[in-house]
Amino acid sequence: MLEVRHLNVWYGAAQALFDVSLQVDVGELVVLQGLNGAGKSTLLQAIMGLSPRATGAISYQNKSIERWEPHRRALAGLGYVAEDRRLFTGLTVHENLRLAARGDVPAREAQALQLFPALADMLDRPSGRMSGGEQQMLAIARTLMTGPTLLLLDEPCEGIAPLLVEAIRDALLRLKREGVTLLVAEQNHILAAHADRTLTLAAGQLRER
Ligand code: ATP
Repeated sequence: MLEVRHLNVWYGAAQALFDVSLQVDVGELVVLQGLNGAGKSTLLQAIMGLSPRATGAISYQNKSIERWEPHRRALAGLGYVAEDRRLFTGLTVHENLRLAARGDVPAREAQALQLFPALADMLDRPSGRMSGGEQQMLAIARTLMTGPTLLLLDEPCEGIAPLLVEAIRDALLRLKREGVTLLVAEQNHILAAHADRTLTLAAGQLRER
């Protein structure tokens, strides 16, 4: 489904990823581990087309996408939830959901709210007035409004209260059961126990185990 070959990424003169190759198959949950600064966020951003400078090949559903703009990658089915969530904090939950929506919007909204029932009770709340965990749910739900087939998640359970961590973990596992493919960067081993495979980045290089 997703294939990355010989990926190198630079920030200015500093190289952050070195010859990274990986594959994610349909329906898999792959967890990407590594210490701070190992390059996890950089890898997800490169897959999404957000890197300042990258070389290598990326294919998705057998199409070469490495030259595509991020928006085109999103249209092809890649959904990305950044570590900082990128919500519009002045807008309500409902407005955040609707902003990114594509396709059958009411059906997607119903599905997202079923996955995160807590959001259904706060549709009119500005997202800036939600807890970190609630914001994370909204960030994931907003990405689901685009109908992704592959979800790229950067530290989805980092710094979140335990009860909400469970809700987010269970929602992600449910998405997997429903056929969504997941590539999750995390340091805190929340999803690793459920992963089909774990990849580890160290100083910009990948090893599989
Ligand atoms: P963290 O969990 O701390 O985000 P990470 O594994 O996601 O860690 P990255 O954020 O991808 O790691 O960082 C990889 C390397 O690239 C680090 O050396 C980091 O300092 C560098 N880096 C990341 N973003 C930038 C940037 N915007 N400009 C310059 N260097 C960057």
